[in-house]
Amino acid sequence: MNSIPNIVSVQKDFFKTQKTKDVSYRLKLLKALRHEIISNEQAIYEALKKDFNKSEFESFLSEYGLVFSELNLVIKNLKKWAKPKRVKASLLTFPSRDYIYKSPYGNVLVIGPWNYPFLLTMEPLIMAIAAGNTVVLKPSELTTNTSQLISEIISNVFPEQVAISVQGGVPVATELLAQRWDYIFFTGSVPVGKIIAKAAAKHLTPVTLELGGKSPCIIDDTVDLKLTARRIIWGKFLNGGQTCIAADYIIVKDNIKGAFIEKLKKEIIRAYGDNPKSSQDFPRIINKKHTKRLARALDDVTIVFGGEVDIENRYIAPTLVDSPNLDSELMTNEIFGPILPILTYNTEMDIENIIRAYEKPLAFYVFSNNKSFVDSTINKFEFGGGAVNDLLIHFGNPKLPFGGVGASGMGAYHGKYGFDTFSHDKSIIKRGNWIDPSARYASYGFKKLNFIKKMFRWFG
Ligand code: NAD
Repeated sequence: MNSIPNIVSVQKDFFKTQKTKDVSYRLKLLKALRHEIISNEQAIYEALKKDFNKSEFESFLSEYGLVFSELNLVIKNLKKWAKPKRVKASLLTFPSRDYIYKSPYGNVLVIGPWNYPFLLTMEPLIMAIAAGNTVVLKPSELTTNTSQLISEIISNVFPEQVAISVQGGVPVATELLAQRWDYIFFTGSVPVGKIIAKAAAKHLTPVTLELGGKSPCIIDDTVDLKLTARRIIWGKFLNGGQTCIAADYIIVKDNIKGAFIEKLKKEIIRAYGDNPKSSQDFPRIINKKHTKRLARALDDVTIVFGGEVDIENRYIAPTLVDSPNLDSELMTNEIFGPILPILTYNTEMDIENIIRAYEKPLAFYVFSNNKSFVDSTINKFEFGGGAVNDLLIHFGNPKLPFGGVGASGMGAYHGKYGFDTFSHDKSIIKRGNWIDPSARYASYGFKKLNFIKKMFRWFG
């Protein structure tokens, strides 16, 4: 394979040819990508199964299906999105026609994580290409099968000067970050996010950082316990709990804790059977290092359900933990695994004390039938996005921007927001020549100043 500096140089030269500005060229590539993805549907499921025992159902729902619908959406709307948008002219610049031109940044670097390895690399790739950029993509080194397949799909569709997938771990990522990019889109952990931001700062390269954090889920005593337990178990244990927007922990009203824990246990058994290890639907932890990390976090806590660990087979059972201390290992870092801590509250201040112990989270959930409680919690806290009476589902609506705030990230994408993320808005005024008021030209004098002041008061 070409060296990294060479790949970047070839893409830079290609971008200058203006070829990617042609919307029909972009559409041709995106349609070819759709065709290639359809042809590889089964191979994608097999790769995800090999990487971490992800079931075909979850792979369709949370990876293939989302990529496919995003591709369809962009193919359908690209001509409209890419067209210069005329905006109302200002009377102060009269006569004129005013526009926003959508302009690609140029050469984009996308770095992806392992937890939704297909979705979280293909979606930014699709939107960066749709917006007219070239892309170098680096998928995670931890999902070897899926990352290899992504490289094959990309090389079957795109000439290298438009898009290429580069395999490798930290050394490759570091070499990529040493190049000069026009945009960097990163999905991953907070510590690596800081490394990306630092590398980008060197050239003032704009970045989107899709990071993580400890996302809370509040449950009050007005809820239907069975339905709430069902939705929480689904959203928490999907992908083996390795989801950036999973509820990291729950804060449940003290008076329903006991009854709610019983419902959670029942729901885990209903979903994954008495022995989740033998369930075809329960994924494994991505590698031994992460399995050990999760096992360590269970050392000093009270387990009320689950708790089985098998490092060799990268298995952690769906586990419920009762009232861990906020300074325990489990509650210090993002869990990113199938362990659900259950905290309690009596007053809204208790909730605030827990949530404010952490950085601004990526997701936020509240289960309640009390509208004013829901509204007050949504308004009180800063977080990326969330849902009321469910988990995760805000990710699935492309009309909603998806991204974090503060330590959980910056920037957003999905649907048109994705296209906008990879486009710079050029403001252009096309000035008419048929009239040319002389008021702004020197020499000025008081009369002109008074006239201009009046103009600003009337029209400004
Ligand atoms: P990670 O930060 O370890 O790795 C992400 C990518 O960065 C990988 O491609 C990796 O090779 C690369 N990388 C690792 N170390 C690097 C370094 N020193 N320099 C440059 N690049 C480096 O994250 P992960 O373990 O793959 O994913 C889990 C994290 O991602 C969690 O924190 C999760 O919350 C977050 N996440 C966020 C979103 C989101 O959309 N906001 C989605 C999925 C995951």
